Amino acid sequence: MPREIQTQVLPEIAHSEVLLQEHCAKLLHESNANIQKIVVLKRSIDARQKTIKFNIKALVYFKGENFHEHKIELPAYNNVSNSREVIIVGAGPAGLFAALQLIELGLKPIVIERGKEVRGRRRDLKAINRDHLVHEDSNYCFGEGGAGTYSDGKLYTRSKKRGDVDRILQLLVGFGASPDILVEAHPHIGTNKLPQIIQDIREKIIACGGKVLFETRVIDFIVKSNEIQGVITQKGDIVSANKVILATGHSARDIFELLDKKKIVIEAKPFALGVRAEHPQELIDRIQYSCDFRGVYLPPAPYSIVKQVNGRGMYSFCMCPGGVIAPCATSPGEVVTNGWSPSKRDLSTANSGIVVELKLEDFKPYAKFGALAGMEFQKAIEQRAWQLAGSTQKVPAQRMVDFTHNTLSADIPKTSYVPGTTSVEMGQVFPGFLSQIMREGFKEFGKTMRGYLTNDAILHAPESRTSSPVRIPRDHETLEHIQIKGLYPCGEGAGYAGGIISAAIDGEKCALKIGEALS
Ligand code: FAD
Repeated sequence: MPREIQTQVLPEIAHSEVLLQEHCAKLLHESNANIQKIVVLKRSIDARQKTIKFNIKALVYFKGENFHEHKIELPAYNNVSNSREVIIVGAGPAGLFAALQLIELGLKPIVIERGKEVRGRRRDLKAINRDHLVHEDSNYCFGEGGAGTYSDGKLYTRSKKRGDVDRILQLLVGFGASPDILVEAHPHIGTNKLPQIIQDIREKIIACGGKVLFETRVIDFIVKSNEIQGVITQKGDIVSANKVILATGHSARDIFELLDKKKIVIEAKPFALGVRAEHPQELIDRIQYSCDFRGVYLPPAPYSIVKQVNGRGMYSFCMCPGGVIAPCATSPGEVVTNGWSPSKRDLSTANSGIVVELKLEDFKPYAKFGALAGMEFQKAIEQRAWQLAGSTQKVPAQRMVDFTHNTLSADIPKTSYVPGTTSVEMGQVFPGFLSQIMREGFKEFGKTMRGYLTNDAILHAPESRTSSPVRIPRDHETLEHIQIKGLYPCGEGAGYAGGIISAAIDGEKCALKIGEALS
């Protein structure tokens, strides 16, 4: 039997099989020559002490013990060409993992996606960055792989169900992600690696007889006697099925409007909104690692911070070490920020959404929009920011200390946000209560993370697509919409997930419920 050990080691030991083996031998009072293999099960950084260490959980195999390299295998996906069809609207993580799960269950997914396949999508991202042109069906939120394709690909989630999380991570490895994601405490994939994984998932779906329709936007649902019968696309095509997974993400405003117009129950949902802050990565490393230079063995440091200000949580969201701020608008006439990183996270800037939790009462000025009040609140801020920054994809920007002093920044240095920035007093972008909380909050952040509150940090606005402003309510047991039989609201847009992993888990859950209903 291999021996399981938990230990703390210096970074250089954590990164060397030879040194780690020597360390384990000493720890177990065994001869190094007797050890056959060390298999690291979990790895995390402990940066609380002056000397930074790695926590390692590992299995030590001794010579003569039965050791097999554990290769991750994909499930047996059978051919479902002639099986019963299930429609999935949206090819984000929720939609794609629902499709894979349906195939496992012997059902045929028809995935309908408004955006382009992952490579074609790239040209439209270039057009946003370079020409300030936003394609309403193909952008950082819409297209194959959904909002997560051109992201940092962080794979952590607050989901407590470890088994569900591990299954998604293993599937990702099966589709080409590095097995390191199974080991790291805070795994991520990176923008450069995600598209190939997404493409391989799509190819598997098609190889098994499923269908994936790109550049096909669902514009209506066919509902008879409160039962779904199919969907209508912008091309005028009818796609029929009496099971439809609706996984259109948090930015599909036309879907929320369609549901509202058709009197299919939806509810306003609180979300969070704020700015995206960019610091030099070196500064974040110094703060987080308490050292002048992080060296070669420590990764670019992430951070996570939360404070209560005036009774509301203000917190970091989707922090991207060594990353870039991305233009994530989905319509012309608005600006939206988010962030991505390459797999090595080796760029010189660190960015993070810094957002404040909103309450339903904040949406009162938009009460006439009913369940869409939060969405209209969000839209108004994005449109105001667009106007204030010059009616292009440039965003309003301000130095952090200037913001806390309510002073327009005299200049804004070049940041990673490619379309550019315009110096704006952020107070003009947000309702007064939000600016006030953020001003106070940044001062509080500066007390906890010494050096964080600096004019070298540039705020970009707004960070507004943190989660869905709408919930599409579903039955807890069947996961069907509470009013429309056969309609499965799914993933982040429906309000049941936040992030790649939880959206993927929710996709699988909906597919499993459909499997149960059809068995
Ligand atoms: P989405 O991914 O939003 O997918 C919905 C899909 O539905 C889209 O492809 C859209 O085109 C399609 N669609 C919408 N309307 C229609 C229609 N009418 N007809 C047909 N198709 C339609 N999360 C993380 O966990 N880690 C990260 O590092 C991370 N970084 C991010 C970086 C960026 C730049 C962005 C934008 C998001 C990031 N996220 C990250 C969030 C993550 O991407 C989402 O939480 C996740 O993608 C939600 O999955 P989903 O499948 O529910 O919805």
